Amino acid sequence: MKREDCIFCKIAQGEIPSKTIYEDDTFRVILDLGPVTRGHALILPKEHAENIFELSEDIAGKAMVLAKHLAVVMRDRLHCSGLNLVQNNGVSAGQTVPHFHLHMIPRYEGNGKDLNWKAGEATQEELEAVRRQITQ
Ligand code: AMP
Ligand code: ZN
Repeated sequence: MKREDCIFCKIAQGEIPSKTIYEDDTFRVILDLGPVTRGHALILPKEHAENIFELSEDIAGKAMVLAKHLAVVMRDRLHCSGLNLVQNNGVSAGQTVPHFHLHMIPRYEGNGKDLNWKAGEATQEELEAVRRQITQ
């Protein structure tokens, strides 16, 4: 997708209004329009990268440092008791907007939102085959 057509580029650059909770030269952090929980936010790099495969290591590192900072702010201000970081890459992974974004989803005791997946099963042999495929 071209950057001119990218909605998160326009939001990150301030061309489309958003509920911004943080901004610096590199990032804009906005409230998600369809929040899974109260305070659900998206960390948007201002520079376009479609997903983690395209993202520079520099921005990737800075995004995690910012998430750590904002996690503490959210815990203190929203009084959440937990927080999920979620980051989807590619349609098969559930990515719907092709501009890298890191979800910050505050969690509250007893809020009943089921974001967590169920554990699957793998034999030791299957795990070993994956380990070899990745490392050798
Ligand atoms: P993903 O499925 O990881 O690509 O997440 C896209 C997220 O962006 C969803 O949670 C949407 O609710 C959110 N979203 C889509 N358009 C906007 C928008 N214009 N402003 C804020 N959040 C948006
Ligand atoms: Zn973009």
